Amino acid sequence: MGKIVLNRVNKSFGDVAVIPGIDLEIENGEFVVFVGPSGCGKSTLLRLIAGLEDTSSGRIEIDGKDATTLPPAKRGLAMVFQSYALYPHMSVKKNIGFPLKMAGMDAAEAEKRIANAARILNLTNYLDRRPGQLSGGQRQRVAIGRAIVREPAAFLFDEPLSNLDAALRVSMRQEITELHQTLKTTMIYVTHDQVEAMTMADKIVVLNAGNIEQVGSPLELYHRPANLFVAGFIGSPK
Ligand code: ADP
Ligand code: MG
Repeated sequence: MGKIVLNRVNKSFGDVAVIPGIDLEIENGEFVVFVGPSGCGKSTLLRLIAGLEDTSSGRIEIDGKDATTLPPAKRGLAMVFQSYALYPHMSVKKNIGFPLKMAGMDAAEAEKRIANAARILNLTNYLDRRPGQLSGGQRQRVAIGRAIVREPAAFLFDEPLSNLDAALRVSMRQEITELHQTLKTTMIYVTHDQVEAMTMADKIVVLNAGNIEQVGSPLELYHRPANLFVAGFIGSPK
């Protein structure tokens, strides 16, 4: 579970092709980072995979099945939003369990999944608090917990750490990397931050104006950049 294949995926808004045509294979269990400058199409590509945007043409396959026209809820993927997307009036437990409640899951099974996610994220002692009573890092973990309980085939992150301060960003990076090692589930992580890409990724996809400039491991990109854009982008932290 968790293999995602994009075949000539195109997204146009009006007559502007934001994603002219992308081919990409993401293997089961990989940690893949989409990196590139602001406006290059990272979020759009992630939203196409999530089903939050419809493709203009091309095909998206998830675990061998055509998912191109499936609604988001049927793709088996979970998007992790920034922590400010939590419900302030609900407890941590209710925030984490919210997607399961929406899906009408049996309460006992939901309890089990919430407890498991809380254990993995070190939130067991905070389940009765509200988001406003948590630290920034804990709030981000609650947002991740909401994805974990769905047991998705892949996690999709869109710059989840960009509203955190620098020190917290570094520790959360480490936590997400550890979470990947624990769950071994496919993760697609969008960032404009080269350091985040280089430290977290198994595989980096460098995007520029909606096109893939290069796909490779951090070491491959560092030692054998395909062109000047990749060399400049990977070589110069923001
Ligand atoms: P990134 O996440 O890399 O910063 P985006 O995927 O958000 O980039 O945007 C890529 C390009 O697509 C930008 O030029 C943006 O203005 C355009 N775009 C994104 N969403 C829409 C939309 N709904 N309508 C029109 N243009 C859009
Ligand atoms: Mg974006």
